[in-house]
Amino acid sequence: MDKELLAMLVCPLCNGKLKYNREAQELCCHYDGLAYPIQEGIPVMLPEEARAMGADEKLPISPGRTGEV
Ligand SMILES: [Zn+2]
Repeated sequence: MDKELLAMLVCPLCNGKLKYNREAQELCCHYDGLAYPIQEGIPVMLPEEARAMGADEKLPISPGRTGEV
């Protein structure tokens, strides 16, 4: 995926930065615990299409924290 495009994308719910998961082809918001799918190279930025993460994937709310994958 295009890095510049990726840098522009934010979570539609919290406007937070998303983490690109290359293997899963998902854009992850660890604050909301949602993973947005990338379908054929196009990020689907719809909360209703997003996958809910497990509790172990989700971070506590702490903006500014740089997350690990
Ligand atoms: Zn979010």
